[in-house]
Amino acid sequence: MTMTDPAVDPGTDAAAPSAGARTADLLERHRAVMPRWQALYYADPIALSHGEGRHVWDVEGTRYLDFFGGILTTMTAHALPEVTAAVQEQAGKILHSSTLYLNEQTVELAERIAELSGIPDAKVFLTPSGTEANDAALLMATVHRRSNQVLAMRNSYHGRSFSTIGITGHRSWSPTSFSGLQTTYVHGGYRLRSPFRDLPDGEYTAACVADLRQLLDMATSGDVACLIAEPIQGVGGFATPPDGFFGAMKEVLDEHGILFVSDEVQTGWGRTGEHFWGYQAHGITPDLLTFAKGIGNGLPLGGVVGRADVVDAIAGNHISTFGGSPLVSAGANANLRYLLERDLQGNAKRVGDRLRAAVQPTVDGTPWIAEMRGRGLMLALECVHPGGIEPDPARAAALLEATKDRGLLVGKGGLYGNVVRMAPPLTLTEAEADEGVALLLDAVRSID
Ligand code: PMP
Repeated sequence: MTMTDPAVDPGTDAAAPSAGARTADLLERHRAVMPRWQALYYADPIALSHGEGRHVWDVEGTRYLDFFGGILTTMTAHALPEVTAAVQEQAGKILHSSTLYLNEQTVELAERIAELSGIPDAKVFLTPSGTEANDAALLMATVHRRSNQVLAMRNSYHGRSFSTIGITGHRSWSPTSFSGLQTTYVHGGYRLRSPFRDLPDGEYTAACVADLRQLLDMATSGDVACLIAEPIQGVGGFATPPDGFFGAMKEVLDEHGILFVSDEVQTGWGRTGEHFWGYQAHGITPDLLTFAKGIGNGLPLGGVVGRADVVDAIAGNHISTFGGSPLVSAGANANLRYLLERDLQGNAKRVGDRLRAAVQPTVDGTPWIAEMRGRGLMLALECVHPGGIEPDPARAAALLEATKDRGLLVGKGGLYGNVVRMAPPLTLTEAEADEGVALLLDAVRSID
């Protein structure tokens, strides 16, 4: 049962085609003009018209509780008045000035990010996306270290560009193996399908560290530039290594002067509840940290923050025309201020724990859910065939449909498309969490 409010679509008027026809028409036009590989969710895709708080409405007037936030991007809330006002005010002044001119909003944003990063005397380079943030981090690390050798995690995702595909340890997102980078893939991010999975935490970490040592000796020629890793793998299905894992890896990296790049595109800004950044679960400070998604609450913004000597290693000119424009910086400043003033990290911990506790008994009692992973407001269910861990993407797809039919939007992911991901805006209330859990569990029960 979905909640339908035909009055909510502001675009509807008497002369317009019926709402259902509008979605069908849009789908046909979309398929004709968009690339084949740009997938839409659901057997009957939906077109979102507007949002408010943690809810969105489609053009047919159906309301959904949003547990995916446009792929972990609506960080605070939909149509947050503070962000809307900041964007409107800035839009009335100047949309764009380029990096050639000083801009108050951009400098203020960079100062705030540098301070929040936990990296001493950090510098910040702003970009329009997470892909470009990682591309820039790779450039900085490889130039600084004078090496094109890079370590990445198995099951990783870092972006869609030619360079970031070269560090993607995930078959579905690797359309080419051509790359200027020499990448070696490291064990450990995705424990459920690791050969070391049955070991207790400490031994699991030790086995991965031993493998890293061997990889450096056997699969590289030394002088590796960096290890880039997501503290919790996003696209990879919120795969979460034990706490301290990257701290143990970094001890080996430090022996060789190899930089550590933390890709916090999904894990940043307090989403994991216990920590503001994912790296903080590992007792280390990264040399470079990349971010995007949530910081702009939907405005196109990403970037790299890191050690000044590494960021400044790029010789010659280097700019991003759109990176950190006055418009997106104004919105991001308002968004970040809201997040910090209301301790949304604390809310992510509190409400995330509540969500997890309410879902866990069903996970324990459902033979086709292997495990629940993640932390804070970043939780995933991995769907398998009962009796083992053979991936079951059909059940994940069925769960996606069943949640939608009940008025709940969740996401999909995982190496085999068999993981259902939940990552609502960080303002999620307890009542909304309970509502979402009820819809989710009803959807789980509806599947064999
Ligand atoms: N890194 C991670 C961890 C991501 O999840 C993503 C996007 N899913 C990216 C990088 C790329 O970001 P964007 O899509 O903004 O280019």
